[in-house]
Amino acid sequence: MSEAEPDAVVVGSGPNGLAAAVTLARAGLGVQVYERADTPGGGLRTVPLLDPDVVHDVCAAVHPMVWPSRFMRRFDLEARGVRMLRPDLAYAHPLPKGEPGLAHADLDRTCAGLGEDGPRWRRLMEPLVRRGRGVGDLVLSDLRSLPADPWAAALLGPRALAQRAGGRPLRTERARALLTGVAGHVIGPLPSLPGSAVSLLLGHLAHTPGGWPIPEGGSASVADALIADLRAHGGRIHTGSEVTDLRDLPPARAMLLDVAPRGLLHMGGGLLPDRYRMALERFRYAPGAAKADFVVSGPIPWRDPEVGRAGTVHLGGTQAQMFHAESEAVRGRQVEEPFVLLVDPAVTDPSREVGGLRPVWAYAHVPNGDPRDPVDLVRRRIESFAPGFTDTIVSARGVPASRMAEYNPNHVGGDIAAGAMTVWQTLARPVPALDPYRTPLTGVYLCSSSTPPGPGVHGMSGHLAALSALRREFGIHEAPDLAP
Ligand SMILES: Cc1cc2nc3c(=O)[nH]c(=O)nc-3n(C[C@H](O)[C@H](O)[C@H](O)COP(=O)(O)OP(=O)(O)OC[C@H]3O[C@@H](n4cnc5c(N)ncnc54)[C@H](O)[C@@H]3O)c2cc1C
Repeated sequence: MSEAEPDAVVVGSGPNGLAAAVTLARAGLGVQVYERADTPGGGLRTVPLLDPDVVHDVCAAVHPMVWPSRFMRRFDLEARGVRMLRPDLAYAHPLPKGEPGLAHADLDRTCAGLGEDGPRWRRLMEPLVRRGRGVGDLVLSDLRSLPADPWAAALLGPRALAQRAGGRPLRTERARALLTGVAGHVIGPLPSLPGSAVSLLLGHLAHTPGGWPIPEGGSASVADALIADLRAHGGRIHTGSEVTDLRDLPPARAMLLDVAPRGLLHMGGGLLPDRYRMALERFRYAPGAAKADFVVSGPIPWRDPEVGRAGTVHLGGTQAQMFHAESEAVRGRQVEEPFVLLVDPAVTDPSREVGGLRPVWAYAHVPNGDPRDPVDLVRRRIESFAPGFTDTIVSARGVPASRMAEYNPNHVGGDIAAGAMTVWQTLARPVPALDPYRTPLTGVYLCSSSTPPGPGVHGMSGHLAALSALRREFGIHEAPDLAP
């Protein structure tokens, strides 16, 4: 692992590692990226898993956080030829009985479909949609700076608190389940303050111009655009290069690590002061995700055909069932009907269907480290809302939560958020500090989703960590231009 004197080294090439590398390279630095996998991209990899012609998103599939991200806005994926396809029906929530909840891109249509809860949904979402930019900048920040749009904070905070405190703005099962399904993205106990905040963030994004989009051809197109820009600005990526000891890296003034706290403990634990090391050891991981991928011979035969138009489908049942399943997963208890998130990408991007075959992407929320193969668990869950699904399955593969870290060590016990999103860990992520990216080791920064603003594909953790490193290590105080 010897490479002539880069200014900065990045370990890991997920969206945050790549955002950090692009930011540093755009500031004129020589950047080298070390990635343990054979393909760069981390959570943005799209590969054939079961059939040579059918590609699957191994991790992220849907990208609501691209539009609100300041980094992605300035980087401008669309101008670089990445088509973000926005389904008219952002997400659907079928119920065991009755009509499904449907969140259309169009807020009016969503409200019209929610009956007596329509006006309540509007009161909850419309003010946030109006200040969408401010809400995005507030939430996708280092969570330490004063908000540029104080009105956004004034809108979001009280709404999230009212829900957590048992305020029940919604009355019908359909609308409650629809919103709770979005809260479930937090992968933690429900109801909770982080769950409420996430439901409002992701919920209102469905109705903004960005929506809940799927990149044409799969998530790898986002990684490819970042990689192309990095290379165009002199950066290099070394794949198949696992870093096990920080001292093996070429000397560089800045080292940015796109790894979970456990990764830093492995590669540099002995070098860290006791206090910081112990704080990283106390860092808590969330329940796990167990991923199931299918190749199927046709569209999913949903009981209610409307669900088949949705970009994302939440299979969680009623609000009470989701509260129960999610809270049991936190307690380490298995349930037979876990919350399952599902994407049939060919619904939004017809190019994903090849020769009548299409990929289905799904994962179940399970206890951290759960060893169960999820294929049957997820299949049964889908079958209960789409009778006949089983007959369309051509092939399948499952990755239990206990094995997710083999693919990416950041997913400790299957925790795809790289750290539980509790109230404390949302703010003190990974440790309480004014600059959460900086570590006590000179020039060494954490830049993964274990730092603010947290999980999801937005690149902001990497971008903010890089800006901190530029300021402190290189005296560069201005954010570089990221435009194509
Ligand atoms: C199944 C699944 C579904 C998801 N769905 C969505 C979704 O639809 N939308 C969304 O926004 N987010 C989704 N996410 C979350 C999203 O993928 C992550 O939040 C995001 O990828 C985090 O980016 P990152 O750069 O911090 O880390 P990662 O993307 O995890 O990348 C870290 C990289 O570092 C590498 N690495 C780790 N340790 C080392 C080492 N020692 N040496 C060298 N390289 C190392 C890893 O191989 C990996 O490539 C999903 C995640 C999973 C797993």
